[in-house]
Amino acid sequence: MQHFSIAIDGPAGAGKSTIAKAAAERLGFIYVDTGAMYRAMALYFLRQGIDPAAEEEISASCGQADVTIRYQDGVQQVILNGENVSALIREEAVGNMASATSVYLPVREKLVQLQKQLAAQADVVMDGRDIGTCVLPDAQVKIYLTASVAERARRRFLELEKKGQEADLEAIKEDIRQRDYRDMHRENSPLVQAEDALYLDTSEMTISQVVEEILAIAASKGANVPS
Ligand code: C5P
Repeated sequence: MQHFSIAIDGPAGAGKSTIAKAAAERLGFIYVDTGAMYRAMALYFLRQGIDPAAEEEISASCGQADVTIRYQDGVQQVILNGENVSALIREEAVGNMASATSVYLPVREKLVQLQKQLAAQADVVMDGRDIGTCVLPDAQVKIYLTASVAERARRRFLELEKKGQEADLEAIKEDIRQRDYRDMHRENSPLVQAEDALYLDTSEMTISQVVEEILAIAASKGANVPS
């Protein structure tokens, strides 16, 4: 049986995970956060003290990092060499390392294979940078989710503030700009809008407006959307 797939791509901070999670919950689909997989690999490289520019060393050590996914009460858990690292991969340093090391082909090939396997086994909402273009080119629904740099930085700032962490809005903006540049200009699977993806700028939209729009598109493509 062919499973139903919704691919959501876009830059950092566009709200992909919040939207994808909510849409998956409404549809009874599995939510697959592919960024978490790149973060788990990045954590491995950080722990090994590998320089993100050391391409050969990264390629050679890829095989030693076993990344798998498990679901606990419907929530994705990322397992790195048997250890649940889900709580450790949200740090800015891990995100930056993930952005720097996801440019390498051996890292991507390994994780894309895992992502394809997951989508072959279940109905999924999968988010990332290359889902509609590379991982699931036949996904029934493809969304390119974005928002202005200012709005994405503002959201990230509020998120950190809520967690009681110190945040500098200008530094966050600069970080987002740099990550966008790296993700969009890398040689392997750069972040681009798939030709058949719907472009959604969420700067002026609420979360529920975006989710409803995605559900309506999924319904029009044959997904069963419980009311
Ligand atoms: O989405 P998130 O910020 O967790 O992703 C971390 C990094 O992993 C991104 O900056 C991006 O470089 C990389 N990534 C990727 N392809 C994906 C998902 C994430 O290259 N499908």
